[in-house]
Amino acid sequence: MKTIDKIYINGEFVTPHGTERFSLINPTNNTLTGHVILGDEEDTRKAIAAAKEAFKTFSKTTKEQRITYLQQMYEAVLKRKDDLTNIMVEEYGGPLQFSAASSGNALNGILSAIETLKHFDFIRKVGSSKVILDSLGVVGIITPWNASNGFICTKLATAIAAGCTAVIKPSEMSAMQTQLITECLHEAGLPRGVFNIVNGRGEVVGVEITRHPDIAKISFTGSTLVGKTIARGAVDTMKRVTLELGGKSPNIILNDADFNVAIPQAVTAGYMNSGQACIAATRLLVPEEKLDEVKKLIVATIEKIQVGDPHNAATNIGPMVNKKQYDRVQQYIRLGIEEGAELLIGGEGQPAGLEAGNFVKPTVFANVTNNMRIAREEIFGPVISIITYRTEAEAIEIANDTVYGLAAYISSSNTERANRVAAQISAGRVVINELSHDPLAPFGGFKQSGIGREFGEYGLEEYLEPKAILG
Ligand code: NAD
Repeated sequence: MKTIDKIYINGEFVTPHGTERFSLINPTNNTLTGHVILGDEEDTRKAIAAAKEAFKTFSKTTKEQRITYLQQMYEAVLKRKDDLTNIMVEEYGGPLQFSAASSGNALNGILSAIETLKHFDFIRKVGSSKVILDSLGVVGIITPWNASNGFICTKLATAIAAGCTAVIKPSEMSAMQTQLITECLHEAGLPRGVFNIVNGRGEVVGVEITRHPDIAKISFTGSTLVGKTIARGAVDTMKRVTLELGGKSPNIILNDADFNVAIPQAVTAGYMNSGQACIAATRLLVPEEKLDEVKKLIVATIEKIQVGDPHNAATNIGPMVNKKQYDRVQQYIRLGIEEGAELLIGGEGQPAGLEAGNFVKPTVFANVTNNMRIAREEIFGPVISIITYRTEAEAIEIANDTVYGLAAYISSSNTERANRVAAQISAGRVVINELSHDPLAPFGGFKQSGIGREFGEYGLEEYLEPKAILG
């Protein structure tokens, strides 16, 4: 049994003022694995004060110094790469395959910040003016549980590249992962106060970060609901916000695609991170005349999928992060049936032999219409909805008929056609014929999937304030 009883302020592991004990539960069997002592408003204020003090000197560092700090950060995280993967598997049941990729993404996020910084001009000439891009100040970084350390690394690396300092509030459900990344970052030897990490509840630590006048910007990844609350709270002090929120991403399979490749890939895209991914391709749009073929291919693919122990390298789908999330997914499966969708495979309850954990049967609904709630709301579990279309124009219309706009996927044997369709999709990222990530290209949402972008130059500019000097 492990107790995490320290937070990290001003370069030191310290005992929090907060005293609430939060239970850490293993999602594969729902047994208690440990506790975390949560920080409170006072801890948050101390962390903000430390970051504010550190900003005075850190904002004056040169590009070269920041690159050196980022390289130190990279080395320190790289040393513990396997531990980072294992703790993800252990703490929230992320399948080994996904967790290993996620640790790679954490490292690539740091490399992306280094690469961007190398070529970035903080002083530019615009019109007849000199434009200086100033570091914004203290950044509040608030992250979710589903790939916690990847988000922390990307956001903190960008803050450092911009000369900002940070107060980080990870999800309370990620305490073990947080402990590990804090040890890495401590090891990196960054100046005191540049990063501070406070475990705590959103309603306590998150709210204090949102309210506090010494926080200049919030970089948030999480649900659209909480993102809206943060945006509302942030406006009182005119904080800048980057909000990376939810999604209901369409996957358009055009009629000229190789369905033997595209359909198994669609299953991978829908079930990534056990379906607990903001960019999961949960709406599968297929030509009406191909529906029977698609159904056969999808069932054949899913019959081969392994649900179970996330430590097993062959496992595709692990448990849902907690019982609440399991119940939520079950509710949506019931709802799909009530709404009249055809349950093609999967359904309610745990797969046989996995009753002790929060495991969900990989589920696909056919005959879904885009106005059903299962097609409109983020389920955050392994549930795919198949929606048919008659023409390319209708496919685009359905794809865009959502309040979200984070990601979209297109399969076609004609890349020119796929690019033409991609240009008409309202989403921050459109991925053609593969499942890939580019840590230098902007990432973020259209519509209610968010505000702002992360990664590369677009991401870095979000941590800077342009100042024009005339005359
Ligand atoms: P969540 O919104 O419940 O929580 C995210 C973080 O916000 C947590 O640290 C939480 O403690 C904190 N929080 C909660 N209430 C708060 C408040 N009132 N003020 C400030 N902070 C508060 O999300 P979650 O369940 O942890 O993660 C799943 C969600 O995250 C999904 O909706 C998913 O789509 C989204 N997500 C988006 C991206 C992206 O890049 N767009 C990536 C991953 C996850």
